[in-house]
Amino acid sequence: MNNFKKTRIRFAPSPTGYIHIGNLRTALYAYLLAKKEQGDFLLRIEDTDQARLVPGSIEKILETLNWVKIKVDEGVVAAEGEGFVEKGDFGPYVQSKRLELYQKHTQELINKGHAYHCFCSRERLAELREEQQARREAPMYDKHCLSLSSEEVEKRLTAGEKHVVRLNVPRGELIEFKDEVYGKISIKSETVDDQVLIKADGFPTYHLAVVVDDYLMKISHVVRGEDWLPSTPKHILLYKFFNWELPKFVHVPNILGGNRKKLSKRSGDVSVDEFMKKGYLPEALVNFIALLGWNPKTEQEYFSLAELEKAFNPEGLHKAGAVFDYKKLDWMNAHYIKQKTNEEFLALCRPYLEEYLAKNNIKTNDDKLVKIVEVEKGRVKKLSDIVENIDFYFKAPQPDVKMLLWKKMTEVELIESLKKSLDLLSDLAEEDFNVAKLQAELLKIADSSDRGALLWPLRVAVSGAKKSPSPFEIAWVLGKDETISRLEKAIKSIELNG
Ligand code: GLU
Repeated sequence: MNNFKKTRIRFAPSPTGYIHIGNLRTALYAYLLAKKEQGDFLLRIEDTDQARLVPGSIEKILETLNWVKIKVDEGVVAAEGEGFVEKGDFGPYVQSKRLELYQKHTQELINKGHAYHCFCSRERLAELREEQQARREAPMYDKHCLSLSSEEVEKRLTAGEKHVVRLNVPRGELIEFKDEVYGKISIKSETVDDQVLIKADGFPTYHLAVVVDDYLMKISHVVRGEDWLPSTPKHILLYKFFNWELPKFVHVPNILGGNRKKLSKRSGDVSVDEFMKKGYLPEALVNFIALLGWNPKTEQEYFSLAELEKAFNPEGLHKAGAVFDYKKLDWMNAHYIKQKTNEEFLALCRPYLEEYLAKNNIKTNDDKLVKIVEVEKGRVKKLSDIVENIDFYFKAPQPDVKMLLWKKMTEVELIESLKKSLDLLSDLAEEDFNVAKLQAELLKIADSSDRGALLWPLRVAVSGAKKSPSPFEIAWVLGKDETISRLEKAIKSIELNG
């Protein structure tokens, strides 16, 4: 009877064109649990809701999993080159290709009296719902068609009358199951509706398909979002009617927005695509979402995927929803950015830089870009930030006398300060324009009790901004000629002003 010789866990998204960050986290937990137990991670596509299909979704799902380095062992996998293929002995792994299986299993339920045909019209169902609402009852199907004789059902089916198949939920029973996160759950069967199993278009509903597939694919653990917890009693009944062994259920808590409501499209960027576009690194996103709802029970904060595979344990999953903290994500992303070599970081930033350069009609070379990204690496939180404050590297700023002044300095003192820097820098050789040398030489001539008197005007003269990297770094990026030219320009403008 044991259906589960091996840990087999599936991620079962619907191909609706959009991967929510919550879906990615479910996929991650499913994958981690499978790996932790030396099992397989499967990808099954649940496309029974034909109205919501978006072409290209399966490729997008695979691309996203690949981006975060989650490897699919079985099911729908990326093909070499383009598209996808199905791999494994339990296929097909796309539900729309399994319609006969659902029909066959539904027939078995009908034969045993656990399911029945329902011919009720939309109008009758709407009326029923209104009446129940007026009586402040939960809307439920009233089993009207259960009383039809088998001859009558046969006649109406032969006549091609539109119908669905419903689950015959028994009354007066307690439906009980254990969830690995939420514990023991008991529900009175009276509160469970006679769920539609096969829709009028002949497609199964999610509830039937998920149970049939999880069983036939020998899925050992059903890992999915907390949203599905209220549907699980219906699934439990199906397992019972089929006389199938239950898998383990692992419902994972919702991800909440700042308003403590479930993170949704409306609460902002929740599509994984958006995080990708903004320049969050996959390793940061994985680390961050792993900790959203799961506690490693150690002080460790940074986890690579390989470390998570070892450390993950469903006992650390929380029951309560986890609030998505963008600040923490930014902070984590900045950490992973700092781990990149300058070359890796430039390669990651290149698409953003290229777009910026083209838009601003700037011609430059890699030597300069390498330096810019090296200086900026410690300052950006996400890759798209790289182009936020880099105009001054390409365009000399317009001197602003007020901004150039350090504290209570007079304009005469300001000119003196800038000339002091200018003289020193003019005497340095081009090859001495590196951060260490520039810093050492400038600090030598700065007044040690008030370094700002030298460094502030110099920094503002080269950057044109109140906040920027250090003057040493900027002078290194700009090179000798450009640095000197900006200093001269600043001095001239103060003289003209005075
Ligand atoms: N297709 C369902 C979803 O996208 C899967 C739920 C489950 O894993 O059972 O949420």
